[in-house]
Amino acid sequence: MRRFYRRYRQAFIVLLVLVCLGVLVYVGIKTKKDLNTHIISNTYAGQAMGTALKKTLFGENETDLESVSKDIDQCLQDFEKQVSVRVDDSEVAKCNRNYAVEGVYPLSEELLGYLRREMDIYLGSKGAFSPCIRPISELWGIEDGETTVPADEEIQKTLAQCDPVNIELRDNGIVFHAEHMAIDFGAAGKGIGGDKVKKLLQNSSLTGAVVSIGGTVVTYGDKGNGKEWHVGIQDPRGEDGAVLGVVDVTGGSIISTSGDYEKYFELDGKRYHHIFDPSTGYPADSGLMSVSIISEDGFLSDALSTACFVMGLEDGMAYAKEQGVEAIFVTTDKEVYVTDGIKKQFRIQNEEYELKKK
Ligand code: ADP
Ligand code: MG
Repeated sequence: MRRFYRRYRQAFIVLLVLVCLGVLVYVGIKTKKDLNTHIISNTYAGQAMGTALKKTLFGENETDLESVSKDIDQCLQDFEKQVSVRVDDSEVAKCNRNYAVEGVYPLSEELLGYLRREMDIYLGSKGAFSPCIRPISELWGIEDGETTVPADEEIQKTLAQCDPVNIELRDNGIVFHAEHMAIDFGAAGKGIGGDKVKKLLQNSSLTGAVVSIGGTVVTYGDKGNGKEWHVGIQDPRGEDGAVLGVVDVTGGSIISTSGDYEKYFELDGKRYHHIFDPSTGYPADSGLMSVSIISEDGFLSDALSTACFVMGLEDGMAYAKEQGVEAIFVTTDKEVYVTDGIKKQFRIQNEEYELKKK
């Protein structure tokens, strides 16, 4: 045997090298094929949760794309039916309408879980985020097209009534310690919807997707090219779809943006928008035009984008860092501040804006 081996050693080595090369070439071709070919994509536009819904889905065949698109629509519709204050028989609308002061109003474990997380953000943001800002939003009516400023007396009266210290979460429900209160998922609902969409995509046969629910963008997988997603950050003073910059993120990241440009009116040169400062009852005036938060957790990205917008650059940036998320702050002077973790991933595309170091 040994003699046989010695005799054919050279031939044996050449053969081995050839086999290895063959395997490498085969794996290379196969991987390339997996990366590039047979991945198709479709874009679907519609409405969900009172805002625009856009889905760009990547997968191996048309049928898969269609069916996942429908599943996403259904999932968001079901969630809206549960939490929207605009759906008369939603769990949230019924609670707001029917609760009795000091009684325990029963809520599902799911809703209580979201409310607990909202209360954590309320405490962490030192009140900048309020799970019961609803009466103030209704008084201003900006989302319904109202264009006048309510009387200050009304604002102060309403504000005193909707203080989150007047709600208490129990194991099986919620207790309100005051009348005229209301809970609302306006500031975190699209993020929770984003979490649900991400889960659905993870359990699907798709290879990649970008789904935007208003200002919340869910990314998943990749385009079939193994690369990151480039997500545009809306220019707060530009047309819808005009971007001030782009951030590269890996699939699974959820990006939510809160800004003073979504729903607003102008009066005497002043902009009145739909994100309120719970300490004043007036639209937040913190020197910011928008805040984008990037996280794997959609709830956190949406809730923190609202909280940090109200808190302003200094406090908001500190809170975002404390929560371990990445953030993009845009000031009214068109200065842009980003967290260290995305310095290399973010670039300005509109030169009216300036990236600042902090
Ligand atoms: P959008 O709804 O435009 O995506 P946000 O996520 O910032 O923007 O949520 C804004 C909504 O949140 C408002 O329409 C209102 O219902 C609610 N909201 C406004 N101010 C606050 C606040 N300080 N804390 C919690 N929710 C708020
Ligand atoms: Mg939000």
